[in-house]
Amino acid sequence: MVKKGLVFNIQRFTIHDGPGLRTELFFKGCPLRCKWCGNPESLKANIQLGVYKNKCISKNKCGACLEVCPQKDALQFHRGKLVSFNYDLCTNCNACVDACPAEAIKQWGKEMSIEECMEVIRKDKGYYERSGGGVSVSGGEALLHSDFIRELFKVCKEEGIHTCFESAFHGNWSEIEKVLPYTDLFISDIKHMDPEIHKENTGVSNAKILENLISFSKTDKELIIRIPVIPNVNDSQENMEATADFILNQLDGKVRTLQLLSFMRLGEEKYQSLGMEYNMSDVKVRRVSFQKKIAKFAEYFNSRGIHCLVGTKEKQ
Ligand code: SF4
Ligand code: SF4
Repeated sequence: MVKKGLVFNIQRFTIHDGPGLRTELFFKGCPLRCKWCGNPESLKANIQLGVYKNKCISKNKCGACLEVCPQKDALQFHRGKLVSFNYDLCTNCNACVDACPAEAIKQWGKEMSIEECMEVIRKDKGYYERSGGGVSVSGGEALLHSDFIRELFKVCKEEGIHTCFESAFHGNWSEIEKVLPYTDLFISDIKHMDPEIHKENTGVSNAKILENLISFSKTDKELIIRIPVIPNVNDSQENMEATADFILNQLDGKVRTLQLLSFMRLGEEKYQSLGMEYNMSDVKVRRVSFQKKIAKFAEYFNSRGIHCLVGTKEKQ
């Protein structure tokens, strides 16, 4: 049994991934590299340090991180401010994170046991019961942690807590099967129906994802599908029609709601803090006309008999 999962964020009282009020755990590591990803801290499956250099007071006035670091050269400064880390030297001891008085250093990722996760989850049990909520897991790609999540959800189900698994479904079907018995609701997405365009924009083909969705449609579980609508990537009528055909012809009526999510420029500061390039900085969106375009897509899906809404809602 896997004893620990690598969690990079926990959100309480969230309303986006599943019904009611939820506690959502975000797991680290992802096999996809979607150009529009708003969570760059989720991509690597190891603990990472991010630095918000504008918050650094400077090593001459503060220097608290240098005082505690056992590998002084792991901290890299420019004009007195901490700007990055030498990850070959850093031992992930976390001392600088705790010592920094300015919150200029952020640790992304924490190993948590089932019991540590349950301690957080149980705090809001009353809210789940009153709102019809529960626990959600996401990522990164939560499927990379399927052994751990299987055990976590098993405990949740023993305690009567609703469970929701959000995944891109790019993994072996056997990983999905592990969590199936303990998951009430799944959320997945279709980013593009064309395998080449999918690969160009996410780093992987959509073949495995579509195959898993078809296998999923043969189970008795419920599914929400999302399309992140990205300008000049998948926002064509042709792609929406191909997606509707796939849902209607291959998924056997298993999609309980299709949700269209509008592109937002998210996470730029986090990209900077991790020394990563943000691929969408040149993308300009005319918000009103883009929203109108997405509303038209929603109308189209509904006209084909697919219950479709804009945003993460399930009801108008
Ligand atoms: S995590 Fe530890 S070793 Fe790494 S930079 Fe911070 S104090 Fe130094
Ligand atoms: S402890 Fe924080 S504020 Fe102080 S020098 Fe280091 S990064 Fe800057």
